[in-house]
Amino acid sequence: MIRYKGLIIEDSYRAQGLRSKLVQEITRKGISDRRVLEAIGKIPRHYFLDSSFMEFAYSDKPFPIGEGQTISQPYTVAFQSQLLQVEPGHKVLEIGTGSGYQAIVLLEMGAKVYSIERVKALYDKAKEFLPLLGYKPKLYYGDGYKGLPRLAPFDRIIVTAAAPDIPQGLLSQLSDNGIMVIPVGDSNGVQVMKTIHKDSNGVFTEKEHGQFRFVPMLEDKK
Ligand code: SAH
Repeated sequence: MIRYKGLIIEDSYRAQGLRSKLVQEITRKGISDRRVLEAIGKIPRHYFLDSSFMEFAYSDKPFPIGEGQTISQPYTVAFQSQLLQVEPGHKVLEIGTGSGYQAIVLLEMGAKVYSIERVKALYDKAKEFLPLLGYKPKLYYGDGYKGLPRLAPFDRIIVTAAAPDIPQGLLSQLSDNGIMVIPVGDSNGVQVMKTIHKDSNGVFTEKEHGQFRFVPMLEDKK
């Protein structure tokens, strides 16, 4: 149970039941990475939504989190997490903190998470709220296109907003044997989920993994 802004938020049996059904649903849809499924099964997604409607939190759908942004659909979170092939101890850079849910999934998988958000109100909320849940990802308010050059390289980079193309600045922050997962394409239409592997000689290989729909990755306005 946690207290936040005068509200008491708890993980009821009902929430736990709905969550295990959600895990079954995304398993049926093709997610097989045990650690991804365990993380989704463990984290109370309803904590990350403003709505108190439990059905919304545990249906496999995206949901508004304010500021015109959305928390990704659970299947999409799971799919990106699975593609990322996170190992415990990996340094992972996330672009688009949003609600913080994806960051917490990665923390549960044993990663050290660095996450950037460019909407100040969302950054502020995540900074205040996530520690109440007992999680402390390293959060940054800034432009994801730039990444975090001073903290690079990263073993894994995950972009959770639609990018018009693969940001070269981010690619240069990927370590050898690193993997980047990113939805690329027109922000008004659909995007293609891509992985970019960098091998031990620094050679990049790109693969495609189907179509998804994300909110756009915003250009820096500062
Ligand atoms: N990972 C989030 C989903 C985020 S939706 C979650 O689990 O809830 C995409 C997020 O990317 C939004 O919060 C949006 O504000 C943020 N974003 C968009 N452009 C960005 C940029 N250039 N740098 C950092 N964050 C950005």
